[in-house]
Amino acid sequence: MPLNNLKVGACTICGGKEFSFQPVLWPSLIQEWELGEHEVDYINRQQGHSCRGCGSSMRVRVLALAILSIFAEGGTFADFIHSSTGQQLKILEINKAGNLHEFLKEHPGHMLVEYPEYDMMSLKLPDHHFDLVIHSDTLEHVSDPVRALGECRRVLKETGRCIFTVPIIVGRLSRSRAGMTASYHGAERDKRPDFLVHTEFGSDLWTYALEAGFSKVSIYPINYPSAHAVVASC
Ligand SMILES: [Zn+2]
Repeated sequence: MPLNNLKVGACTICGGKEFSFQPVLWPSLIQEWELGEHEVDYINRQQGHSCRGCGSSMRVRVLALAILSIFAEGGTFADFIHSSTGQQLKILEINKAGNLHEFLKEHPGHMLVEYPEYDMMSLKLPDHHFDLVIHSDTLEHVSDPVRALGECRRVLKETGRCIFTVPIIVGRLSRSRAGMTASYHGAERDKRPDFLVHTEFGSDLWTYALEAGFSKVSIYPINYPSAHAVVASC
C-alpha cells in the first residue's frame, strides 16, 4: 500500500505528519511464523513505518496512543509526559519501549528494568506501587506470558493499568513455539537469547491478561490490523 494512502494520523508522540517506511521481516522469519502476504504487509508496517520527526515506529506510536487515551485529554505524548498529570505517575518500563524510552528516561516517577537483570516473571519490586506498567514486544519472549502479566498486575496499584504491545496475527489464535524450530525477532543474524520467540500471539491475546487476573482488557489500533496496543486494567 502506498505510504500516502495509509490512514495513520499524526504521530502520537511528537505530532509529526511525515513518515518513512522500511520493511523489516526477512524470509526465514516469515517462513517460521507461517505468515501470508497480507500478514507480512501489516507486520512490516507495524515495525517499519516510522515518524520522520521522532523516529517512532507504528508499534511505539500505538503504545503512546493507548497511554494518552487512558491518562490524557488530547495532545501528544511529548506534551503529556511533561504535564502535571503525567509527572505524577509512577511508571514501570519493562525493557526499553523503543523510542518512548527517550521521552520517559527523564521522568521523575519512571523506573526501567531490563532483561537479564530482571526476569519479567519474577520482578523484584514491591506490590501495588505503580500507576502504569508498559512493555513493548517483550511478552512474546518470555516462557510463561500469563505469569509475566500476573507480575505486572501485582506491582500495579488497584487503579493501575498495564499497557503493552506484542505483534498480533489477527486471523489466528495464539500458539506456543515449544517443540518447534527456534525463531528469533530482532535482526536476521542476531540470535540473542532474549529475542527467542516463545509465543506467537493471535486474536485471543486478551485471554492471557484475564487469566493473569486483570479485570478488563481494551484494544487500541492504528491502521488496523497493522498495530495494536493492549490496555489491561486491574
Ligand atoms: Zn513523531
